[in-house]
Amino acid sequence: MESSSQSPPLLSDKNAAINIVGAGVFGLSTAIHLAQRGYKNITMFDKQPYDVSRYSYFKGCDAASADMNKIFRSAYGAQTEYQNLSIEASSLWRQWNEEIASGNVPEGMNSERDKVFLNHGNLSLTDQSTLPAWEEATMQNMNAAGLTNSQLNTYDPAHVQLAQEKGFGYGIDPFHRRQRGQSYLGVLDTTGGTLLADKACYFALHKAKTLGVRTIFGPQSGTLESFIYSSSSSSSHDTKTVTGIRTLDGKSHYSSFTIMACGGWTPALLPELDSVCEATAGSVVIMKLPDHLARRYSPHTFPSWTYNIRDGAEGGLYGFAATDDGYMKIGYRGTKYTNPKLQHDGRERSVPVTRYTDPERITDEVPAQAIKVVKRFIADFLPDLPANGVGIDLTRLCWYTDSWDNHFVIDHVPGRRGVFVATAGSGHAFKFLPNIGAWVVDVLEGKGLERQLVKSWKWRTRPETKENVVNELMQGSEGPRALKKTKMSVARKVTLSPRANL
Ligand SMILES: Cc1cc2nc3c(=O)[nH]c(=O)nc-3n(C[C@H](O)[C@H](O)[C@H](O)COP(=O)(O)OP(=O)(O)OC[C@H]3O[C@@H](n4cnc5c(N)ncnc54)[C@H](O)[C@@H]3O)c2cc1C
Repeated sequence: MESSSQSPPLLSDKNAAINIVGAGVFGLSTAIHLAQRGYKNITMFDKQPYDVSRYSYFKGCDAASADMNKIFRSAYGAQTEYQNLSIEASSLWRQWNEEIASGNVPEGMNSERDKVFLNHGNLSLTDQSTLPAWEEATMQNMNAAGLTNSQLNTYDPAHVQLAQEKGFGYGIDPFHRRQRGQSYLGVLDTTGGTLLADKACYFALHKAKTLGVRTIFGPQSGTLESFIYSSSSSSSHDTKTVTGIRTLDGKSHYSSFTIMACGGWTPALLPELDSVCEATAGSVVIMKLPDHLARRYSPHTFPSWTYNIRDGAEGGLYGFAATDDGYMKIGYRGTKYTNPKLQHDGRERSVPVTRYTDPERITDEVPAQAIKVVKRFIADFLPDLPANGVGIDLTRLCWYTDSWDNHFVIDHVPGRRGVFVATAGSGHAFKFLPNIGAWVVDVLEGKGLERQLVKSWKWRTRPETKENVVNELMQGSEGPRALKKTKMSVARKVTLSPRANL
């Protein structure tokens, strides 16, 4: 008889059948690294038809990973483990750019034009008169890691000089605030910049397929409906053995391991994650810029940025240079909202509502608070947008999977033998697309478990005390962040004002 005290099975048989559910960052990266280590029988599922829609938000995709752009930064304050993980990712991102340039591209990508990583700097701005302790810690820790002078204080003349010498001069005051007599204090991370998210995922999918990973995508054939349990498992056992998954088209897919990488959908699929992580919504606005502004805000002269990013409901902003198509994106995560829905077991769990899963709604609403904070920022930092008649053309809710401590969850699932979870990106996992899978495979194989990051990612429950709690979870449909209680704003074609009269 199986019991919960049984240690989880470790992966070693290179011919073992492995199902990966979810083809976002965690699923893709795990698939690539499993295949690179010689595993031969990998199938990746997703309910979204990414092979056709290519992770493009404009072609109907909707997941945290399916996006126009994400920030890459090595800056991690005192969290040097993530800093080092980021540095590890950085060299792989460069390698991916080189692979693309060498011609190894899927249909629809162009080896001469396309890149997945633009190293044009990431500027972290504050409205304070001195740098926050977090930024000071980053500067110290990046120096200690040997990346001396990679983090530049925008008010330090020696650093301004360095920025110019390194070709990042534009990143010191990209909003031209000094000439308007406004503050522009921040830290420019010269290792940072923009990840072209949809292209990066599509390229990762191409890599996985080239390495022999099978994919089953689509709303019927690619959607996990239920787990298949071994007939010897009974509900009276503490631990049930999972021998595969059933998809919505009624087919059974047997496997030795099922890796759950379903992003914001994971907590509802694995209720064991209650109080470990939860789906929360960030708000995104997109503006189409006229040609002259798209040139002014191009990545050649404008970095990615954050503003008061850890400062709560009135801050929490980040944004990007204009894309090749002239789209500028600004995100708000000062408050992350939830969508609690009653589940089969009578408990509420927050589930993503997206244009893909709920096409009627097309999420043309985001919380009014998000629009307020974004409009105020634009009036203050980007007055030439409203002055040139630019308005908000599109809005989107983008679903995070937040753990209570902001660490990922990468571990075997207690009570479901054969099930493994890789999730809880907590708003910062995209940058690890090229390397996180190697860590996932290590844990599956039982290697390097003593490493601090791996320990942080272990299965855990929220402590009773508030110590180390970064995100409150499971506040329910009556909680302060529930979307149904939140004033929403229909933001299509919201007119922007050059004055901060909000
Ligand atoms: C608004 C926002 C901004 C962010 N910005 C940054 C940033 O600047 N830098 C950074 O590093 N990180 C950032 N992140 C974090 C990063 O994007 C995420 O951590 C990462 O993309 C999560 O990947 P994932 O694989 O866990 O989830 P997802 O990308 O959500 O993928 C999960 C996949 O599972 C599939 N799925 C769900 N249910 C099923 C089912 N039943 N059957 C089959 N398939 C299923 C979904 O279709 C989806 O494709 C941001 C996240 C958000 C939401």
